[in-house]
Formats: sequence, C-alpha cells, structure tokens
Amino acid sequence: MKSNLIAYCGLNCEECEAYIATINNDDKLREKVAKEWSIANEVVIAKEMINCEGCRANGKRFPFCDKMCPIRLCGIAKEVETCGDCEKLKTCEKLKMVTDHNDNALDNLLKK
Ligand code: SF4
Ligand code: SF4
Repeated sequence: MKSNLIAYCGLNCEECEAYIATINNDDKLREKVAKEWSIANEVVIAKEMINCEGCRANGKRFPFCDKMCPIRLCGIAKEVETCGDCEKLKTCEKLKMVTDHNDNALDNLLKK
C-alpha cells in the first residue's frame, strides 16, 4: 500500500510547498506559494487557499486539487489507489501532463 501522501498522479505531496506551509502553519510560505502559483497558472490564488494536507489524505485540500484536478477525479471514479493501479498508466494523456514533466511521479507510481 502506498503512502497516502503520494497523489493519484504520483507527485509526492510531502514535497509540495502548499503541504509544507499547511503542516507548519507558515503564512510567509503560503504567501510565497500563492504568488508563484498565481503567476504560473495566470489566475488569482489567495494565500488563504494554500491549505492542503495531501491529494489522498483525509483533510484540507487546495481547491484545484480537491475539485478540479482531472487525474484525481478520474482516479476516484475508477476506484484505483493511484494511477499506478490503472491499466492506462503508460498511455493516459491526462496522466502524461504530470509524468512527462516529472520523472519521480512515474517512479512513485511504479513502486509498490
Ligand atoms: S494535493 Fe495538495 S499537497 Fe498534493 S500537490 Fe496538490 S496542493 Fe500539493
Ligand atoms: S485513466 Fe489516467 S487519470 Fe484515470 S486513473 Fe487511469 S491513469 Fe489515472
């Protein structure tokens, strides 16, 4: 069984600055993450939105990851533990949006 801090897509939520800001209740880091993610995604992200205990954990989640991430929504609908358990692991276009840019994500999904 995978750590519940490995997201459906294979990203390690433990390394995500939103997660780190949340567990340390670090408002300065929340502010930095909100600024960087606003620029990167061309949307306004307020520092109050930077509260996330992980993609698959029970707890608070960043609004995009909670309600909009197509990979998380698909994983939930397919009732897989992560995309690592899905037969489309190597071919899924949605998943490639993450794994094409992050080698660790695929490694995390392949690890049992
Ligand atoms: S689910 Fe939360 S901790 Fe995981 S990548 Fe998304 S924002 Fe970061
Ligand atoms: S179809 Fe793609 S996004 Fe959905 S569970 Fe499978 S690998 Fe993940």
